[in-house]
Amino acid sequence: MSRAELKPLLIEGMQPGGQLTITNEVENFPGYPEGSSGPVIMDDIRQQALRVGTEMRTGMVTSVDFSQRPFRCIVDNQYEIMADAVIVATGANARWLELPSEQKFRGFGVSTCATCDGNFFRNKTTVVIGGGDTALEDALYLSKLCTKVYIVHRRDQFRGTKALQNQVLNTPNIEVVWNTVPVDIVGEQQGFIKKVTGLQVKNVQTGEETTLEVNGVFEAIGVTPVSDLFKGQLDMNEQGYILTQPGTCRTNVEGVFAAGDVQDPNYRQAIVAAGSGAIAGIEASRFLMEQ
Ligand code: NAP
Repeated sequence: MSRAELKPLLIEGMQPGGQLTITNEVENFPGYPEGSSGPVIMDDIRQQALRVGTEMRTGMVTSVDFSQRPFRCIVDNQYEIMADAVIVATGANARWLELPSEQKFRGFGVSTCATCDGNFFRNKTTVVIGGGDTALEDALYLSKLCTKVYIVHRRDQFRGTKALQNQVLNTPNIEVVWNTVPVDIVGEQQGFIKKVTGLQVKNVQTGEETTLEVNGVFEAIGVTPVSDLFKGQLDMNEQGYILTQPGTCRTNVEGVFAAGDVQDPNYRQAIVAAGSGAIAGIEASRFLMEQ
């Protein structure tokens, strides 16, 4: 859109660069033959967008009014932006298990971000919950820091890609606990100091409950689209994914487009999100030309 001289303004949100900024290794983004890290890729994309003239602002969009054009977006509850077209690319956030004691230990040994918090568990034992790509990547990342890493998965087969599965199964300090679900976090508290000492788990086949002795618990059970802001204005499905017309990024509001993970329950890969962003950009440009 910058190259089409349409003066795009990007409001960056709380985590500029999104989920990729907490992804350690990305092997499947084109243009990086050796693979790269999420933060490097996002910084490269940012620099490229800046170079062609995109204006970027730090801030959160706190409310929107898509009932008439130009569309009204309020930033940080403080100032408004009127836009002729809007592309929603708010992505998705990690989900939590909501175990009984989880809230108490969040930030004290319970995390959804291995690359952010893994360093606190050097030479300790951790557990990753989940069986998708995120869980496998997190376990591999942690295996380089921790003495031992468990993966607790509710089935007897991973969902993540074969290449990651092979790496995990061939890493000596990773142990997979199959057919098992977490029951609760076990920990201690002395005054303000809290620490995790274990994860209570249950085998879904035998019903047997045990406690894994761990210092850190990393939940990697998928994501939730960040779309609450648009409820009542944009059509979405039960899980909160914004609905777009098939093969396009058009929402139910003419002139508002949705791209990336906020509208994609299926593929959720960085390259798919990037391609979806390109589609939204082209559609928004065409829409503006037609006006
Ligand atoms: P995901 O693919 O949805 O996997 C979530 C995992 O958590 C599944 O194994 C699921 O078990 C398990 N799970 C879900 N709810 C649970 C619960 N309540 N209790 C216990 N286990 C639960 O999510 P993801 O791994 O975050 O990946 C999201 C998307 O990002 C995927 O498309 C993935 O390919 C992509 N991704 C790509 C890369 C990469 O390309 N480098 C890296 C990370 C993620 P079931 O298998 O039984 O459903």
